[in-house]
Amino acid sequence: MRIVTLAGGIGGARFLRGLQAAAPEAEITVIGNTGDDISLFGLRVCPDLDTVMYTLGGGINEDQGWGRLDESFTVKEELLAYGVGPGWFGLGDRDFATHIVRTQMLAAGYPLSAVTEALCDRWKPGVRLIPMTDDQVETHVVVDDPDQGRRAIHFQEWWVRLRASIPAQSIAAVGAEESKPAPGVVEAIEAADVVIFPPSNPVVSIGTILAVPGIRAAVATKTVVGVSPIIGDAPVRGMADACLTAIGVETSAQAVGELYGPGLIDGWLVDDADAAVRVDGVEVRSRPLLMSDPEATAAIAQAALDLALELKELDK
Ligand code: GDP
Ligand code: CA
Repeated sequence: MRIVTLAGGIGGARFLRGLQAAAPEAEITVIGNTGDDISLFGLRVCPDLDTVMYTLGGGINEDQGWGRLDESFTVKEELLAYGVGPGWFGLGDRDFATHIVRTQMLAAGYPLSAVTEALCDRWKPGVRLIPMTDDQVETHVVVDDPDQGRRAIHFQEWWVRLRASIPAQSIAAVGAEESKPAPGVVEAIEAADVVIFPPSNPVVSIGTILAVPGIRAAVATKTVVGVSPIIGDAPVRGMADACLTAIGVETSAQAVGELYGPGLIDGWLVDDADAAVRVDGVEVRSRPLLMSDPEATAAIAQAALDLALELKELDK
């Protein structure tokens, strides 16, 4: 069985671990979000790709959900001693090595997809991880800065430095319109039996991947099941509500299901707290959706896969 998933960072990675447990024989391709990527200290940092790679490769800091296990921060402290920031983005010593290798390979002319494959040679995540594009796409957020007035800032500055504490007037994937899917992305979608959206951020993770021309159209031809990242009108962890508000969508499983809609998804898995959700043209099922431990997460992934296979069968 071939499964394609689109994934952001923490929500995507945790779900994927469950999917691997639920379908150990399946060939899973993960199309990763690169809109969160940022250059820091001259190094290219790809937080969502790395979160997936570290989580599935056994190198993640479990409590945090991002960054490396057994991490130290000597390089960051030394940089700060020179007055060189930013200090608000947590790059640990072990993590730095990943970004150095990546930056060196990019500078040698390798596309990000080839670099990601090389990094995965070490981590062996058990899935094929492909960035959505080899082109530079960066999510920017327009804010009304109390000091500097209206300006566009990098997503990470809004999300990590400001903790989304000031409202986003708008969110844009800069460069997306001119970008092309990375080699293998459209081919993997076309060859997939089913496509599953993990409970990743619908705006700045899944939404950004779908903004790469060609990806949405390819996904739309498949049997697609989404897992709601919203339970009872709140994102389970993080600040996804601030992103939804910015695009004028209510923070509810209902509204996110409608945002994807019948043109894109066939099935929508919501939490039992949202059992009343109905989306025209979409099969909605409810079950507990809290990824509280590996067993619970595997059961969620199994339910998403079962629904997808059921809907695919009906479609024949
Ligand atoms: P990020 O790139 O690290 O922000 O991660 P993702 O975009 O992959 O996923 C973030 C989203 O995961 C959050 O906005 C939450 O709504 C969702 N999420 C986190 N934990 C859970 C969980 O246990 N259950 C469900 N249903 N969603 C979750
Ligand atoms: Ca992310």
